[in-house]
Amino acid sequence: MHKEQRYRMFAESVIEAVLFHEGGTILDANKAAESIFRIPAEQMVGRQTIEFIAEGYRADVLRRIRNHIQTPYEVIGRREDGTFLEMEVYPKEVTFQGQTLRVAVMRDISDRKKVERILEREKNAIARQRDIIQSILQASNEAFVLTESNGSVLFMNVHARRLLDLPGIAPNKMQERIPLLSTFRPRDRTEMLKKIDLLLDGSAREVSMRFSIPQPNNRDEQYYEMYGTGMDTKRQIGMDSGFLFVFRNRTEEERMDQIKNELVSTVSHELRTPLSSLSGYIELMLARDLSPEKRERYLKTMAKEAKRLTDLLNDFLDIQRMEDGNQEYKKDHFVLNDLVRDVVERFRETSNHSIHFDDADEVLHLVADQDRIEQVIINLLSNAIKYSPHHHEVEVRVRKERTQAHVSIQDFGIGIPEHAFEELFKKFYRVDNSDTRQIGGTGLGLSICKEIIESHGGSIEVESSVGVGSTFTFTLDLAEETL
Ligand code: ADP
Repeated sequence: MHKEQRYRMFAESVIEAVLFHEGGTILDANKAAESIFRIPAEQMVGRQTIEFIAEGYRADVLRRIRNHIQTPYEVIGRREDGTFLEMEVYPKEVTFQGQTLRVAVMRDISDRKKVERILEREKNAIARQRDIIQSILQASNEAFVLTESNGSVLFMNVHARRLLDLPGIAPNKMQERIPLLSTFRPRDRTEMLKKIDLLLDGSAREVSMRFSIPQPNNRDEQYYEMYGTGMDTKRQIGMDSGFLFVFRNRTEEERMDQIKNELVSTVSHELRTPLSSLSGYIELMLARDLSPEKRERYLKTMAKEAKRLTDLLNDFLDIQRMEDGNQEYKKDHFVLNDLVRDVVERFRETSNHSIHFDDADEVLHLVADQDRIEQVIINLLSNAIKYSPHHHEVEVRVRKERTQAHVSIQDFGIGIPEHAFEELFKKFYRVDNSDTRQIGGTGLGLSICKEIIESHGGSIEVESSVGVGSTFTFTLDLAEETL
């Protein structure tokens, strides 16, 4: 009696539901079972345990009972009022007076499960965030390195790997790796090391420096800016503070800077010559009484210089607009032969060169920006004249070849060395020798020609040999009416 009472007290005092059953038929239930399943204990007696299990799980529970399985499991329970709960079940078989009974201790784990689910969701969210951050870091154009406070690398993106990787096993600390980077210049390595030390020993909160990496082919030197900063992650438990290093490739910027500098110096140089000549003539004319012939000669020279200035400024404006992508090309329908002939005739009037025009047999229709194509012809023809000071013949040829028109302008002047062919159409490029130095220019004409022709889907080429002469040819698709 006493013993039974004691065991009953045991069963009643635990917070877990305790069910005694035989082959699934409930013999006894404790108080906790009442509150978990929301039914008076005495009403549970005689019912089947699986009635208190959600339908989808019943077969599994039955299997466990039949096979005398005693391992704990989780299952969805069903309360008398039809609601569900998550529970953990600890089954145990006991033999009592020759009878095998099953004790099921059941714990309501709905709250724990809820917390677990929240944690799982948070874990996934954090993982997702980490993935996003990693893909941003990987996709970024900059090289990123994250280190611990002692300089040990925690993370590098692909760009950083490319920049800082060493063959074999690289030391993991930034300050040990930098001195081994043979791609960097020795003085850059020394400076970088100094900066990193400043960060690591806490004497600087952030550091930055510029450096460049020479390339094997002596061209395309890569320019970088390194930026290092301390990261205060102490607030996060278990994380030490560390450092972030960013290497930004600023080669394009550097190139633009160089172009700008070149532009400024070319512009100032090119403007100064005609301007000083102009002001010289103006002073002369103001100071002296000149004969009408002299006056006219001076005025003609002044007009020429003024024109040079205007042309120069127009070239600058053109190239600027084209580079900004603001150039719009019209679609004029015109006859190429007429356009070339017009330009040739105009040049004949003002030039001492004799310009032959060798026309095509067919009328060649184009759909293109007529003013711009005219500009190309003018540029090429004035170059041909300008760069053949001692040979006065120039040949202009128009030809049809299948679906295309070719326009060639040939001179017999100073010619172009082969090494310059590739550079010729680049901005500001001028062949540098004693002949060209005497002949003024900005190095913009051919780059404008190339830009215009290529924007029309065409191509432009040069053939030349020094002292023999040059032929520039551009090719454009013909309009359909010609085909
Ligand atoms: P610019 O004539 O104003 O210098 P261009 O862009 O028209 O600029 O030409 C670039 C360079 O190409 C010139 O400086 C010159 O060295 C070379 N060049 C162009 N056309 C000829 C030519 N017909 N004969 C020889 N050299 C030429």
